Amino acid sequence: MSIRIRSSRIWRTVAEGKARVPFETILDLIYPPRCPVCDRAADRYLRIHPACERLLPVIKEPRCKKCGKPVSRAEDEFCYDCGRRAFSYERGTSLYLYNARMSRSMAGLKYKGRKEFGTFYGHRLGKLCGRQIRAMHADVIVPVPVHPARERMRGYNQAEVIARALSEEVEIPEVTGVLVRVKKTMPQKNLDDKARLKNLIEAFAVRDDGGQIRGRTVLLVDDIYTTGSTVEACTRVLLEAGAKKVFFATVCIGNGF
Ligand SMILES: [Zn+2]
Ligand SMILES: [Zn+2]
Repeated sequence: MSIRIRSSRIWRTVAEGKARVPFETILDLIYPPRCPVCDRAADRYLRIHPACERLLPVIKEPRCKKCGKPVSRAEDEFCYDCGRRAFSYERGTSLYLYNARMSRSMAGLKYKGRKEFGTFYGHRLGKLCGRQIRAMHADVIVPVPVHPARERMRGYNQAEVIARALSEEVEIPEVTGVLVRVKKTMPQKNLDDKARLKNLIEAFAVRDDGGQIRGRTVLLVDDIYTTGSTVEACTRVLLEAGAKKVFFATVCIGNGF
């Protein structure tokens, strides 16, 4: 169920960013958060059913040394993609394998207004991958932006929701509104890798002369990493604008073999 309270004073206070936490607490009391696995009401402290949490596909070793995708044999240093492509980011980490269950859960976050799933996953990402993330020594967290029209339709950018919770967990500040999406990406089925990447790079831009990222190590955050093209496009735009290094962290990632 999505909640729209347009004209009340409390909504305006929230929109101005003054009362986010108390308002969400009130909402939790009226509408308990949904479990990101089964989509039924969950305990407002746990935010997931313990039995459902055991179904989440946490990625284990062996993993690709570059993107962190699971690989089939420990002696494989890199996954198939990283073995044949040179990515511009330093390294990445992800929490869950992007299987059918995670695909349903991520669709809930993106298309059904289940913003609380993003908060839940951002905290889990910070708790379970905190060690790898801290080892990146990032100065700032930057969420992968979505096109403003899409964000208006959804009411939020899912990557930003994840990044905010992660930021609280690892105590690295989140920077929004600097890396922006200036173009909607069209279906890219008939394009080759190179043309697809060029298209994607043109879809992103750095605003406000990039002061907040220049000379800094950036941790890019998104919901899903599949081919790596989005992360690669954002990385190139950030490096071009003066970022020192770019790492990434996503909630889900595909298989590397
Ligand atoms: Zn559940
Ligand atoms: Zn890889």
